[in-house]
Amino acid sequence: MSAPPLAPAATDRIVVSSIDKRFDVKGGEFVALENVDFEVPEGGFVTLLGPSGCGKSTLLRIIADVIEPTDGQVSVFGRTPAEARTAGEFGFVFQDPVLLPWRTAAANVELPLQAQGVDKVERRERAAAMLRLVGLEGFEDRQPAKLSGGMARRVAIARALVDEPRVLFLDEPFNGLDELRRRQMNAEVLRIWQATGTTALLVTHNVGEAIMLSDVVLVMGREPGRIIATRPIDLPRPRTLDALLTPEFLAYERELTDLLSASYEGLGDE
Ligand code: ADP
Ligand code: MG
Repeated sequence: MSAPPLAPAATDRIVVSSIDKRFDVKGGEFVALENVDFEVPEGGFVTLLGPSGCGKSTLLRIIADVIEPTDGQVSVFGRTPAEARTAGEFGFVFQDPVLLPWRTAAANVELPLQAQGVDKVERRERAAAMLRLVGLEGFEDRQPAKLSGGMARRVAIARALVDEPRVLFLDEPFNGLDELRRRQMNAEVLRIWQATGTTALLVTHNVGEAIMLSDVVLVMGREPGRIIATRPIDLPRPRTLDALLTPEFLAYERELTDLLSASYEGLGDE
């Protein structure tokens, strides 16, 4: 008897189904993720919120085809992660901007286009347009050492967006920034996300950031890493920093902080 045909995967969303990830470690196996299920509609903004070590980066890496799950499937708009990555559908922003120090801001942003063989004139234009979008017009010729931390992060965001990825992965991109700078960057990311229509998947342990940006917040717990709560954020868009002052925002903040505190319990100081 032949196997039943697989259901056609949805082409309008990312679907994460029954993901398990186990690592071989000395003395056995470590369960990093257990039975993770969720969906991200195209153009949506979904955040993974959880304490350090709960598997947020591991989950992002599985969706982005950096590592393979032990069990389960991921469909990215109807394709496998490997197919989507090969088709150039992914952009990444990590905690560390990792800019090439000898290249100017513009030349750093041009890198992904250069790798694709886009000609010099078009590269220049697209990098300049992207730097404008992240608010760095006039800084094209600066080298990373001459940029502030916040500016370097904007360059990294511009570089991730320059080849118009369908999915933008943000892994704790604002860690180490002070709270005010972080909020300014949050507002910036919102504006850019809205302007580009990209699908965004953010990892953070900052509750305010998660609420401010997301359509849906997935709260994760540890040992094993798993989703413990799914919270749609029904705040109107476009959102500005004023949203932080509304009673609705504060109610979400309280609820998510409680959920997060529960997942921190028993961890000691970290
Ligand atoms: P988070 O991003 O939420 O801080 P990670 O996804 O980086 O967490 O890691 C989740 C857990 O999996 C951690 O306990 C980490 O030590 C473990 N882990 C991650 N990668 C590996 C690996 N390659 N081998 C063994 N353990 C790993
Ligand atoms: Mg991480």
